[in-house]
Amino acid sequence: MIQQRCRIGAYEISILHDGVFEAPLDVLIHADGETARDEALARWGKPKVSVVVNCFALKGPDGITLIDAGTGPSWGAAMGHAPAAMAAAGIAAGDVARILITHLHGDHALGLFDGDKPFFPNAEIIVPEADFGFYGDEANRARVPEKKQGAFAITATLKKLYAGRIRSVPAGGEARPGMTLIPLPGHTFGHGGYLIQGEDDSLLLWGDALHLSDLQASDPDIGFVYDLDAATALASRRGILERAAHENWLVSGGHVEGFRRVVRKGAGYELQPA
Ligand SMILES: [Zn+2]
Repeated sequence: MIQQRCRIGAYEISILHDGVFEAPLDVLIHADGETARDEALARWGKPKVSVVVNCFALKGPDGITLIDAGTGPSWGAAMGHAPAAMAAAGIAAGDVARILITHLHGDHALGLFDGDKPFFPNAEIIVPEADFGFYGDEANRARVPEKKQGAFAITATLKKLYAGRIRSVPAGGEARPGMTLIPLPGHTFGHGGYLIQGEDDSLLLWGDALHLSDLQASDPDIGFVYDLDAATALASRRGILERAAHENWLVSGGHVEGFRRVVRKGAGYELQPA
């Protein structure tokens, strides 16, 4: 059983499991090309990609904070379970004081919406400035392939439903006291993780720096077609794996099972259960 809860400083942090997203193997790419990808997949030996989808609840002296919001009801029966996980943890939507969004993709932000109403009636929404600015400007649409344009509609809905209670945070800035936005660009324009600093230990929730944590930790050159800019995403992935290993941070993310620590192994890394 991989650890699903941890304590960092004044915060008790729980994983809210939203579901599992399945996709064919051809969503994977490799920086060294197709042959390298096929060899890596043959070693891996799995017939398809199963990606867990998580968000996180923090209980602390400043109330309830969520990191990301899950898919909501629109991605089918295998997903959208974060609200039930939240209820099981004793948290009502109205209790949530703020939600820190790692990036404006559907599996992280659609859970903010309840049809044409906000799902969280009292929450402030905190978004990486670069993502909010980029996807909030229709003039940028032409810079993004058509299949990756969903974040524009999400940003427009967010602006409409949460008008007056959205705050954007610059790269490296504090989303909250002791919660720093670590920029991890590439997956989206302004994608980032949140580093929650405690006195003895810190936790990095790295959003989508990795989608298949075991496969991509052992070979960080493996990417996903969902990355907006594969080369930048790869540089972010390598950089954050090395930094997390060096700092011995506790880590998790939108698509990581449980809380882990990053350990260097061979030419790559291993995510060891905490
Ligand atoms: Zn994601």
